[in-house]
Amino acid sequence: MGKLGYQRTKATLTLVVLMSVSFSHVEAFEFSFLGIKDPVHEKFSKLALRCLIENPEVEFADCESFVPKSKARKFQTSINNFGWLTTKNISNAVKWPDDPVRELRPYKILKMPVWLAHMSLKKCKNLKGGLKHGLRCSSHYGPAQFLHSMEFQKGEPIENTHSAILDWIEYSYLVASNEKEGENYFLQKNYCEFFQNRKSSYFRDVMYPNNGQDFPCNQTDETPWLVGTPYSFSCSIGIANCMSYKGENDKRIRLAALGAILHTIQDSYAKGHTHRGGESDDQINLYDCTPIKRFQVYGEQNTKRHGQADQTPLAGSSCSDAKINQTSIHGPITASSHILRLFSAGKPAIEVREYLAKHVFVIDHENAANADTTDYFKK
Ligand SMILES: [Zn+2]
Repeated sequence: MGKLGYQRTKATLTLVVLMSVSFSHVEAFEFSFLGIKDPVHEKFSKLALRCLIENPEVEFADCESFVPKSKARKFQTSINNFGWLTTKNISNAVKWPDDPVRELRPYKILKMPVWLAHMSLKKCKNLKGGLKHGLRCSSHYGPAQFLHSMEFQKGEPIENTHSAILDWIEYSYLVASNEKEGENYFLQKNYCEFFQNRKSSYFRDVMYPNNGQDFPCNQTDETPWLVGTPYSFSCSIGIANCMSYKGENDKRIRLAALGAILHTIQDSYAKGHTHRGGESDDQINLYDCTPIKRFQVYGEQNTKRHGQADQTPLAGSSCSDAKINQTSIHGPITASSHILRLFSAGKPAIEVREYLAKHVFVIDHENAANADTTDYFKK
């Protein structure tokens, strides 16, 4: 299926489209990113960038109810040879965590049925062991679910998931900003050395399994990974046949990492991912600007409910009435816009982490619980 091109007959195309429609009942977690039902991440990210374009001087622009007035869709960054950031670039990049090895690009519509069959029927069965089983399975069903602001392991203390998310974002930001240290760009750094030198953490254990004794750091016969390698794969369906981009300043890698940050932030407002409150049928698509009480565990959830909660999000009153200031919790569009502002201005990763710890990933310590699904999403 992956080898089909557009030049094939119309009948084949129609068949494939019909097949994909028949899969449309499968859960939105696997489906919504295809941009057919409800391209939430793309919408949020485009609005976030346009809000920045129209409010370049405001420190904290309130973007939750932002309606663009201008047609401008690109912003000149001043960060390390990145150049323009456009709505097209960022809305494409923010989908990276849904298809982290680019199996569906190009010819998404043609490859989708096989991909969906893999994801919804097999659910990465026996492939949840982390990086050695590929990023698609580790991020959707395995231990790298922090890409989606979720937790893999029931009972994991909230602080651990919280740190893993912030570590993931900080790492992604280092890749996206690609600072030059002396003669060398960050993207030229060796992946395994980078993680070897970090102190032990949940995030490090996932990215550098078994203290470097497992894939990808125990390979002697393969090209060593660089720090940008996780964002660089382009595979046909399945991870057996992949190539990876290289280059000391590859914009595709930098954009994927930037998109990954916005994606993680935005997912943390979806009630099936991160519990911030208000779970009932009439509130499930309203997102809250309140602190986090629990990270959800997808494996414990009714996937249909999870999917429904991912669709058509609207700002709840805690977000629409929120004062955007130094202490409040910001909504997903406002926060995404602020990250793009920090990135465009070449601010350091630590500033991004501090902003998110204060305005997005705030734990409600009094009501915090270890990872599990909330009752609303229970199987
Ligand atoms: Zn996600």
